Amino acid sequence: MSFTLAIVGRPNVGKSTLFNRLVGKRLALVDDQPGVTRDLREGEARLGDLRFTVIDTAGLEEATDESLQGRMRKLTERAVDMADICLFLIDARAGVTPTDEMFAGILRKRSAHVILAANKAEGAAADAGVIEAYSLGLGEPIRLSAEHGEGMNDLYSQLMPLADLFAERAAADAPETDVSLDEDGDDDEGYRKPTIAKPLQVAVVGRPNAGKSTLINKILGEDRLLTGPEAGITRDAISLTLDWDGLPVRMFDTAGMRKKAKVQDKVEKLSVSDGLRAVKFAEVVVVLLDAAIPFEQQDLRIADLAEREGRAVVVAVNKWDIEDDKQAKLRDLREAFERLLPQLRGAPLITVSAKTGRGLDRLRDAVERAYEVWNRRVTTAQLNRWLAGMLEAHPPPAPGGRRIKLRYMTQAKTRPPGFVVMCSSPEKMPESYSRYLVNGLREDFDMPGTPIRLHMRSQS
Ligand code: GDP
Ligand code: GDP
Repeated sequence: MSFTLAIVGRPNVGKSTLFNRLVGKRLALVDDQPGVTRDLREGEARLGDLRFTVIDTAGLEEATDESLQGRMRKLTERAVDMADICLFLIDARAGVTPTDEMFAGILRKRSAHVILAANKAEGAAADAGVIEAYSLGLGEPIRLSAEHGEGMNDLYSQLMPLADLFAERAAADAPETDVSLDEDGDDDEGYRKPTIAKPLQVAVVGRPNAGKSTLINKILGEDRLLTGPEAGITRDAISLTLDWDGLPVRMFDTAGMRKKAKVQDKVEKLSVSDGLRAVKFAEVVVVLLDAAIPFEQQDLRIADLAEREGRAVVVAVNKWDIEDDKQAKLRDLREAFERLLPQLRGAPLITVSAKTGRGLDRLRDAVERAYEVWNRRVTTAQLNRWLAGMLEAHPPPAPGGRRIKLRYMTQAKTRPPGFVVMCSSPEKMPESYSRYLVNGLREDFDMPGTPIRLHMRSQS
């Protein structure tokens, strides 16, 4: 199972050169004059052991008037909608231009998976442009030289996990395992393109018998899925799309749902790692605990994995209906949560009863909010004002008598929020100071629960 990659970017950044390198035949014209080739081209690409379809949007003149700008935008949008993954090229020698920023805007809105690359990055002349690329808010740029074939390994490492993801998705979307509410929704290709207004992807994970199927049944409002006291009857990962009180949600469940799905024959082949797989699919992970046996090793492992994978996390404590002393229990749970999962500080803890339906409205709101926080973007101006205050309140350490200087900060990505701080000696920065900044970001920009990544970089 393969995927489609669109190479997008303004004219002359090197899209055709890269296309040619990936396709391996000289299918496309390359020329110093922008706009030699027209419209979209497709080719079969190879990179290491990966095989995929590549679309090139080469061939538009630099937009000088409105109609050209419009055409460029339309063409790019078409390519983005056709593709599973977008590779966004900028010219590291030229730095970030307003047109690049326009493209970044389209991509942030329209594409689920964007890889950013600063091309023409051979040699030191490109260093400044590579650093500037962070400001596009699309994550860490790959240093690429399409012409010299440099950086292809980094491109490979970024594509590989996504290729796996699409292979997994294709398997999960295959018609025989599809329990989508839309009964004729079977997709003969066994493969779905991401849609633009896509539902929020939620995985409900937890140990067997925590009540995952009961929970999803309750949300659906009818017994569409079988539940039972037996642990691990079926094991494949299954998804279904539903409207959760006005919130379009695609749920991934790891047990129970598939009891309905006529996949019993496949069951034996699949491993118990479906919880892990579901986490990879998800944007928001609901870790469902059993109130009688909360925070067991297995629960902690999956919550930690969700954090490391950068997912928004909501912890739900189920079977709350059978708790007697709810207040004391809640205190204990909060205390255990803080102690055992410090990395998820501030994540919501919601008590529910999948059986009676109590607390499910709060769970829905927590999921929506966690998603919102996960997508939160803070402007560079706000960040740098904030950073100045943080530095003043608590100056960074001075190992060996030389104070580490933090010069500039920007949010490099969302989903989850990731920040880059340019500083004088990143390798000497103690963990405790990074933690101080991360906790400050959480508090001051109201980002509870979501994983926050902070990278220190030296300015070259
Ligand atoms: P497109 O308009 O984005 O498709 O760009 P092209 O692939 O036609 O490349 C535009 C120009 O940039 C050509 O002259 C290429 O030779 C040059 N170019 C492409 N990649 C690189 C690179 O990695 N380094 C340098 N220095 N030049 C490059
Ligand atoms: P799964 O393995 O996580 O999908 O768990 P199930 O949904 O199959 O539930 C396991 C058992 O717990 C079943 O007997 C359910 O009836 C029971 N159960 C699930 N949710 C609740 C709840 O909120 N309260 C009570 N009392 N029992 C529940």
